[in-house]
Amino acid sequence: MRALLAVALAGTALAAPRPAIVAKPIPFSDARRAETAAYAQRHYGVRTWRLTTPHVIVEHFTATSSFSSAWNTFASDAPDAELGERPGTCAHFVIDRDGTIYQLVPLSTICRHTVGLNWTSIGIEHVGTSDASILGNPRQLRASLKLTLWLMGRYRISLPNVIGHAESLTSRYHRERYAPWRCQTHGDWQRADMVTYRTALARLARAQHVAVSRAGGPVASGC
Ligand SMILES: [Zn+2]
Repeated sequence: MRALLAVALAGTALAAPRPAIVAKPIPFSDARRAETAAYAQRHYGVRTWRLTTPHVIVEHFTATSSFSSAWNTFASDAPDAELGERPGTCAHFVIDRDGTIYQLVPLSTICRHTVGLNWTSIGIEHVGTSDASILGNPRQLRASLKLTLWLMGRYRISLPNVIGHAESLTSRYHRERYAPWRCQTHGDWQRADMVTYRTALARLARAQHVAVSRAGGPVASGC
């Protein structure tokens, strides 16, 4: 009771409010679940399609100019074009240029968006072709920050564990059993841009009186 009173007096909430989210699920058949479990076995040593305790949020951009093209790519049951594995790639959320947040996959399901981190991460895609194109779009950025802050509260994810795809190799949660992919990453959301993003996230948390943890941080990748 005393602790609750202290929280109330300090005006600090435990979690940010859930933003508006539009459901646009991609087909996630039993076959795709089985492919996801086999992928998790090959790459992480755990045979499951279930995402149970996500520790990391990974920010991406689609390198396309429309939501529909991203949805179509993620909905495909073909192997991905880059690495040639099934299931195809996906992300839990895609944020459109106008700030609409679409959810494509349940948060209880592993999505293949970041080599080394899919077993414990939530993927957020942004329709755009560069970090700057999202940082420079106030409606899209605002939606992204609100969504990320809500997820941080829901899963107790700390600020340093909100990363850009380009930061994947230095995540303390990175693991990859398949040697050729051990040092594989992408160029979306470079560290300098994620510093800007995390600063904006901390500012939004303060404005909403939401406490965020600063525990953790990058580790040496060995790559
Ligand atoms: Zn990416």
